[in-house]
Amino acid sequence: MHVRYSPLAQQFADVDAVFDEMRALVKSGDFTLGKVVQEFEEMFAATLGVKHAIGVGSGTDALKIPLRALGIGPGDEVITAANTFYATVGAMAEVGAKIVFVDCDDTFCLDVDQLERAITPRTKAIIPVHLTGDVAEMPTIMEIAKKHDLRIIEDGCQSLMGEYNGKRVGTWGDATAFSMHPLKIINVWGDAGIVVTNDDEMNRKVRLLRNHGLRNRDEMETFGYNSRLDSLQAVVGKWILRQLGDIVAGRIAAAAHYDNGFKGIPGVRVPERRPYTKNVYLLYILFVEDRDALLKHCISRGIEAKIHYPIPLHLQDALRPVGYKAGDFPVTERHCRETISFPVDQHLGRAEQDHVIETVQEFYNGRRT
Ligand SMILES: *Cc1c(COP(=O)(O)O)cnc(C)c1O
Repeated sequence: MHVRYSPLAQQFADVDAVFDEMRALVKSGDFTLGKVVQEFEEMFAATLGVKHAIGVGSGTDALKIPLRALGIGPGDEVITAANTFYATVGAMAEVGAKIVFVDCDDTFCLDVDQLERAITPRTKAIIPVHLTGDVAEMPTIMEIAKKHDLRIIEDGCQSLMGEYNGKRVGTWGDATAFSMHPLKIINVWGDAGIVVTNDDEMNRKVRLLRNHGLRNRDEMETFGYNSRLDSLQAVVGKWILRQLGDIVAGRIAAAAHYDNGFKGIPGVRVPERRPYTKNVYLLYILFVEDRDALLKHCISRGIEAKIHYPIPLHLQDALRPVGYKAGDFPVTERHCRETISFPVDQHLGRAEQDHVIETVQEFYNGRRT
């Protein structure tokens, strides 16, 4: 049996409605920041229950632009989790901020017990990353930020509709970044990002910065970027946003099926599920013994298993100038050796999931004989 990783072929199997709206858009010529972008932004804000949603070019830009809006640049330090995805630190590097890491814990989010130690007089902001679809310890992070007068930009790119104590990702920080890259919870046909905020001034600045710093057609207030949400992607975004409830419910149900199946297999540890967070499972990750051999075994049985991520950021060549070394973030480094990811999405069949579970079971049975 083949178990594919990406559900995109199924997700976009029937898109006549999208093409119909695109055809109308092409006839109108309304290609830059027009009506459809505004409609998408209003839908997104209403779905999340936030005041403003601003479409931008990518999830990376949805982090970079709020950093700029807060005036963060060279000489400023920004703290994030050491186990995050490239884009989080890429956005910090683009504005010239110094990257400061805090190790994660086995929730895959920042270890809040180590957060205060990383704060210096130059620290300006924290970017908590809601990695894998779970949610960082936001109440503690907010408290620490308040005490030290730091801004919060949530990296929500993996956790659209995630919640902590019933409060959504996107409603905690000064601003939050979401991505609609094809591998995220909702996907468009290329790159797209969204900033959400309840702060009117943040909204104003992000809107300026995504469009060359233009206050209006003729007046340029500041240097900005060309990072507008593409109108064609907004058409896809509207279409897929209507399915968000089913997408999230499907992911959560698939993860519960795995959790049940993997529970009790020797050599496998299912991450602790905190009852007060709503994990939307962008990724389904297990801690496993003998990971590389298991990965090979799964691939030989037709399962497209993955590693998120094999090389920690602080040991990547790009980050050498930041000055970290092996051993600095032991939990992040352990995760690179011990984790494996399986597909978990709304289109995955239970038979495919059972094949994954049986294949893992078979591997550990075989290893002990
Ligand atoms: C995908 C992702 C981003 C950036 O998204 P792009 O749209 O690809 O630029 C940022 N942070 C995290 C944690 C992500 O997973």
